[in-house]
Amino acid sequence: MAVKGPAIGIDLGTTYSCVGVFKHGKVEIIANDQGNRNTPSYVAFTDTEALVGDSAKNTVALNAKSTIFNAKRLIGRHFSDSTVQSDMKHWPFKVINSGGKPKLQVEQKGETKILTTEEIGAMVLVKMKQTAEAYLETKVTDAVITVPAYFNHSQRLATKDAGFVAGLNVLHIINEPTAAALAYGLDKNLTGKKNVLIFDLGGGAFDVSVISINEGSLYEVRSTSGNSHLGGEDFDNRMIMHFRNEFKRKILRTACERAKRTLSSTSEANVEIDSLFENIDFYTKITRARFEELCSDLFRLTLATVEKVIREAKLNKSSIHEILLVGGSTRIPKIQKILSEFMNGKELNKSVNPDEVVTYGATLYDAILSGNRSDTIKDVFLVDVIPFSLGIETPGGVMTKVIERNTYTPIKVSKTFSTYSDNQTTFSIEVFEGNRAMTKDNFRLGKFYLTGIPLALRGVPQIDVEFEMNANGLLNVSAQDKSTGNSQNITILSDKSKEEIDRMVSNAEKCKEEIEKQKQRLTARNQLEHFILSVKQACEESLSWLDNNSLAEKEEYEDKMKELHKVCTPFVTKLQDNDQNGTSISD
Ligand code: AMP
Repeated sequence: MAVKGPAIGIDLGTTYSCVGVFKHGKVEIIANDQGNRNTPSYVAFTDTEALVGDSAKNTVALNAKSTIFNAKRLIGRHFSDSTVQSDMKHWPFKVINSGGKPKLQVEQKGETKILTTEEIGAMVLVKMKQTAEAYLETKVTDAVITVPAYFNHSQRLATKDAGFVAGLNVLHIINEPTAAALAYGLDKNLTGKKNVLIFDLGGGAFDVSVISINEGSLYEVRSTSGNSHLGGEDFDNRMIMHFRNEFKRKILRTACERAKRTLSSTSEANVEIDSLFENIDFYTKITRARFEELCSDLFRLTLATVEKVIREAKLNKSSIHEILLVGGSTRIPKIQKILSEFMNGKELNKSVNPDEVVTYGATLYDAILSGNRSDTIKDVFLVDVIPFSLGIETPGGVMTKVIERNTYTPIKVSKTFSTYSDNQTTFSIEVFEGNRAMTKDNFRLGKFYLTGIPLALRGVPQIDVEFEMNANGLLNVSAQDKSTGNSQNITILSDKSKEEIDRMVSNAEKCKEEIEKQKQRLTARNQLEHFILSVKQACEESLSWLDNNSLAEKEEYEDKMKELHKVCTPFVTKLQDNDQNGTSISD
């Protein structure tokens, strides 16, 4: 494979996103312009600009209605989806129903702006792309993006579309647990079969998967399950409830999250909020034991999922060789303790950073796909399972499955159907994804028709319907009339029109410019502040010298003047240089 541009892996998370690059034979996780290796998946629309990442999260209290977060909970879903309906109730921003899809409505510069979830995803991806570009000092196009293992076809496609809108060529959409397993297994020269349990507890969601690694190169997802509404934010909420009578909520959230993190390494944490209410400061303490007690039912909930996933993989606890921890909330000591106890005292593998392991694996996979890998890294073959059954609607709204859930991909399966009435010349194939018995409870992927069926009694014509899912998760469905050889097919691609995609791409371009402007504005502001503070300090020192030397000689005053010039002039010269290079403080 030809060596292309730099290999980038992006973990597009519900609460935080992370980007890595494969360089000098290893993965490097890249810090953003604020120096943080994890960037909040937040997008804010202020009257002057669009903010993404830390700056958007930092202003959330001031701009709650126009700050979008948790967009990953909406991407690729229907507005009527029960999780969309229940999530919406907890968000300060507005979600509207636009042709059956959830879209975000924000106010900016006195105008109402409506954005798709793909656009919000794209804005976060643009930020991650820019973070990589700033570090590498070169353009980045190819990327591998991770998604949860339970994401359905439509959620995967929508994530891919978000990548396209962000100007990325998405080489592959890879499952988060598979990425974590790759990060763990790739450089280990593993032999035989290793069953790895991946326990992923982040800010908003919990996922458990069992992956078998065969001879170090074949990665098979054996089973996967989880709870899309369990994570660090729930633990924060428990602490907020605990203090609810004493605090104002918004300010409390940040203080509680900080205290929770502290309790992972100490047995007691202070919760300190200055001027919380009517200029009264609030200082209190919480012990680790108390925090554990507040969340004990939530912590225990995770074990039921672990048990289910091991059972579904047709394994038992003792056949799990490694337990990988993923997601910031796995740093909570009590969670580690109960998980290890549940696994009969097995030690947990903490060799990888839980916030970065998914990005790490995605970056490695990009390096393999794009031909950038070094000799130390062997080729791998990923085998994923389909998280939802795929099938077509048959009379009475019944979901007739063609490919069962948990089947390995790539796969091709065909089933023979027939007409339902006499002299039926057209057969409609409506494709659904989901595990429920009736199509109305599942997700509709698309519809096409096979026409020109010769006249015959019902049940006589034989129509072969074939489902083919390729390694990239793209589904192609075809139907063929056996008697005539006549066939039709559809590839279930993005459900967005070219116009819609073009519109999103042009919006993203605008957003890119805004982010760039914002970055330049911040740099300029920091330079100015630095300059003022340095000059201020020099002036204060000179003033105090003056106060103490009111009877000094002319030469002494002149020397002092020269000294002060010496301090200020380099700054002025540097600023003038910057001005010529286009990073003026007067921008
Ligand atoms: P992730 O989605 O993987 O980035 O995880 C983010 C979640 O992990 C947030 O809820 C954080 O508050 C939580 N988290 C991060 N570090 C710690 C820590 N040291 N102790 C407890 N929770 C943490």
